[in-house]
Amino acid sequence: MFFSRRSTMIKLHKQTIKLANPRGFCAGVERAVEIVERALEKFGSPMYVHHEIVHNEHVVAELRAKGVIFVNTLDEVPDNTHVIFSAHGVSQSVRSQAQTRGLQILDATCPLVTKVHVEVARMHADGDEIIMIGHKGHPEVEGTLGQLSGCIVLIETIDDVVHLQVHDADKLAYVTQTTLSVDDASAIIDALIKRFPNIKGPKKDDICYATQNRQQAVKELAQNCDTILVIGSRTSSNSQRLHEVAKHFVPSFMIEDADDIDPEWLLERESIGITSGASVPEVLVRGVISRLEDLGITEVHEEKGVREQILFPLPELLRR
Ligand code: SF4
Repeated sequence: MFFSRRSTMIKLHKQTIKLANPRGFCAGVERAVEIVERALEKFGSPMYVHHEIVHNEHVVAELRAKGVIFVNTLDEVPDNTHVIFSAHGVSQSVRSQAQTRGLQILDATCPLVTKVHVEVARMHADGDEIIMIGHKGHPEVEGTLGQLSGCIVLIETIDDVVHLQVHDADKLAYVTQTTLSVDDASAIIDALIKRFPNIKGPKKDDICYATQNRQQAVKELAQNCDTILVIGSRTSSNSQRLHEVAKHFVPSFMIEDADDIDPEWLLERESIGITSGASVPEVLVRGVISRLEDLGITEVHEEKGVREQILFPLPELLRR
């Protein structure tokens, strides 16, 4: 990104940094990254990963440097080797292609995405027509739609609800992508329920705890800050949603890392909130703080927030 000479000369002072809590890595991302690292340790490189393991450029670049090859299709994976499925999950056709070829699968699908896969299978077995609320083209959505090829209808907006054609309004069920905006999803669900009062939902919310906690934390942060920096990659759904939530209240800027900061954004601001998506390592937050300190800011506060203690177990093959 290009910044003017004036912005490189700017000195900030008096502003306070407030750090959202929780922020950064969730349990599903921690697990996925650890699966790749342990697989490298145990089986060596190159290690093939289907799709980016998590949507963060820094995480991906670091793993690539350690010998990981990220692929978009299994055709790019040689025979007699391991393949890791990313945290977003895969369709049944990708899974069976890997099995047919005898590839050794290491599954880093987040257990909360697997929960949605189990749910759609149950709904289908109950004879329900399934509607998924999600973003077209996102790998998690592709993976969930691909659990029952051609049997799940994807909707993205309230307008899609208005135009939805169903076979039997009394045999309907819905699921959602795990990383949606809580508020947007709830407006779409309300519209579904209004149009189809007998529609069934998941037993437990599909939007995961990490997405909900980070969105709630950024809402609270926005009450006490006059601008927010959201650290995350543009491909990261949950980081994008944090940016949308934040900018609903105050000016918000989405940055990949400290280098993206334009100090001019922060002039005339008293408190600068920082949050980071569920695929963002804390080291990037530290980098942003230290850039702001170089610019003259001296006060940094951690906001109070929910303490997350969720841990997902690793596949048995990789446990020590
Ligand atoms: Fe799992 Fe939620 Fe993290 Fe995605 S954001 S990996 S669903 S915990």
